[in-house]
Amino acid sequence: GHGILAGKRGVILGVANNRSIAWGIARSARAHGAELAFTYQGDALRKRVEPLAKELDAHVIGHCDVTDAASIDAVFEEAGRLFPEGIDFVVHCIAFSDKDELTGRYIETSEENFSKSLLISCYSFTAVAQRAEKILRPGGSLLTLTYYGAEKWMPHYNVMGVAKAALEASVRYLAADLGPKNIRVNAISAGPIKTLAASGIGDFRYILKWNEYNAPLRRTVTISEVGETAAYLLSDMAAGMTGEILHVDAGYHVVGMKNPEAPDL
Ligand code: NAD
Repeated sequence: GHGILAGKRGVILGVANNRSIAWGIARSARAHGAELAFTYQGDALRKRVEPLAKELDAHVIGHCDVTDAASIDAVFEEAGRLFPEGIDFVVHCIAFSDKDELTGRYIETSEENFSKSLLISCYSFTAVAQRAEKILRPGGSLLTLTYYGAEKWMPHYNVMGVAKAALEASVRYLAADLGPKNIRVNAISAGPIKTLAASGIGDFRYILKWNEYNAPLRRTVTISEVGETAAYLLSDMAAGMTGEILHVDAGYHVVGMKNPEAPDL
């Protein structure tokens, strides 16, 4: 076949529904020629993920809850059986924090939610990398999703900002570990997009509006735009890039001050 991902096989974690960033990435990866395998978190999401997988002729390789190490083992064993010659990429689109702590002050973060948020939103990428290393082929890559709240304070993002900062650091450490095997590790820092996970963040509509008024492109981004950049990072067109955090955010990360022409919010 043709396409920048022709002949490549990948596992996608984190499709919840057709608004998921993982879904935008899956659509692009498929359009560019990849063969895909999806996981789902729990039976409730299985019913959503199966028809979506079918649309892309993708395999569904089982339940994966990253708080349950055995379920991570199981899906990567299944991926190894499905693709005996190995895989070429893994896309990690997973994050969680208690909604009650995605509002108000960061200082109120509980130890329990701090641990849980960091486990699911940061450590899980390393846990996935450990399993993926065994079946990734040279030239392959790992990709995760982050947000600008890792770099700068954002209202309500709180412990997720701390988790994303740690996730971005882990991209660099994993890139160094896997580079000698010619496996690349990168992240996309996406601008705000209305998804299930985002609906847990306080005043999310305000954040979307703020980006529309103040980003250089004067709009927010779509899951398709994140998907296209992901396809590029997963492809050999990005063969020289690793440890990179690429912003797909309509340019918002270069802005240092409110647009004086923006209407009041
Ligand atoms: P989403 O709700 O569609 O996806 C989040 C996924 O995380 C779901 O599929 C859910 O099943 C999965 N998940 C949560 N806990 C899990 C667990 N214990 N085990 C396995 N899976 C688990 O939302 P999304 O916005 O597409 O989120 C995908 C990624 O993109 C997240 O890392 C998020 O932080 C990141 N991101 C989102 C935005 C945004 O504005 N939506 C911006 C930048 C980065």
